[in-house]
Amino acid sequence: MTPSADSPIVEHADTSAALFARAAEVIPGGVNSPVRAFSAVGGTPRFIASAQGCRLTDADGATYVDLVSSWGPMILGHAHPAVVEAVQRAASGGLSFGAPTEGEIELAEEIIGRVDPVQRVRLVNSGTEATMSAIRLARGFTGRSKIIKFAGCYHGHVDALLAAAGSGVATLGLPTSPGVTGASAHDTLVLPYNDLKAVAKAFEEFGDDIAAVITEAAAGNMGAVAPVDGFNAGLRELTSRHGALLIMDEVMTGFRVSPSGWYGLEGVAGDLYTFGKVMSGGLPAAAFGGRADVMERLAPTGPVYQAGTLSGNPVAVAAGLATLRHADHEVYSKLDANADRLAGLLTEALTAAGVGHRVQKAGNLLSVFFTTAPEIPIFDYASVNATQTWRFAPFFHALLERGVYAPPSAFEAWFVSAALDEDAFSQIADALPVAAQAAATAATPGDNA
Ligand SMILES: *Cc1c(COP(=O)(O)O)cnc(C)c1O
Repeated sequence: MTPSADSPIVEHADTSAALFARAAEVIPGGVNSPVRAFSAVGGTPRFIASAQGCRLTDADGATYVDLVSSWGPMILGHAHPAVVEAVQRAASGGLSFGAPTEGEIELAEEIIGRVDPVQRVRLVNSGTEATMSAIRLARGFTGRSKIIKFAGCYHGHVDALLAAAGSGVATLGLPTSPGVTGASAHDTLVLPYNDLKAVAKAFEEFGDDIAAVITEAAAGNMGAVAPVDGFNAGLRELTSRHGALLIMDEVMTGFRVSPSGWYGLEGVAGDLYTFGKVMSGGLPAAAFGGRADVMERLAPTGPVYQAGTLSGNPVAVAAGLATLRHADHEVYSKLDANADRLAGLLTEALTAAGVGHRVQKAGNLLSVFFTTAPEIPIFDYASVNATQTWRFAPFFHALLERGVYAPPSAFEAWFVSAALDEDAFSQIADALPVAAQAAATAATPGDNA
């Protein structure tokens, strides 16, 4: 059954609430990744029982149009028949061998075929592992220790990269994290995103010590904040001039914003790349890759150690490969069209409700910022933090109650899939006016509501 404007509002999350309480007894905060706990928006996180196409079904039997897509991977929609079939076929042939398989070559070839600057690929199990390994490799290759990262960019929960990180770190308002030693953060320079002058100055001061600049090819973990014209090209020029490597983190943008990720939209080549999310097909898989001369420094050809018992897992590889092989030009034009259509609906509803906002895009990633100065682009973490994030929770819950599952944080991007259909869009269009009104009338922090 397809929910419509007349369908009852989702107000019963009793089973989810019971599961959340039970989970909290055995799992810290009841979740295995913090943003799932709804900390920033309050309320009961929905426990998902199953998903199909563009819809999630929760433990209470309510269905939602999914605008999170597992935080990116599910570009084809959930339980795509070709991906499920590939996974079933792989699984029935054995789950893990601890020895190489042909599928790993095929996935590496698919990635290399799509992203020109990538000549070698190593598979890992998560985006975190990919960035951690890329940084170790950059340090090993250059013999230098310092890393530049940008405030609001998230590169997984690697110790050295948690400083001023986006995503859940931003959602929870953490400056960094206890447990990260001064020693591991010491070599990380955190600079404002989109500020090339700050990067040039850091290179003047520390040039010979900087191993790499790591950046999200387009920032998506403080909301969608695209690089300004010339920013990535400037990073390319500065790193080359000073003998440092440029690491393009495309874990979020890779194989989503174009067949070859942000590189396909902009054409600025990194020395190293990190991938995850879409190329995993929804199973635990990620990758890092890049210039052959750098990647060949990895063990066993080189001295930089990196390994993984389950790396290149045959079932995960099958899911990733099937996803990429089905992600043809038609899928990418659908993703772009769906993002445009969603952005249009958001703009229309928020404008009608008279609430100051910017719907900002980076390729087909998008996010909603509430702001009193909608004509001014949001271009770095400070400008993100200056937005009215307190309007987000009532907006989010009004959507959720009407069966639209948006990301549960003002600091996250919205992810469309190619599976969004007409019914989904009419449900979104029906839900938005009420949600926009809820955002417009949100109580300012400090109001004693
Ligand atoms: C999600 C993400 C990561 C971390 O990937 P995990 O698989 O969650 O460890 C790293 N970098 C970027 C840009 C991401 O969006």
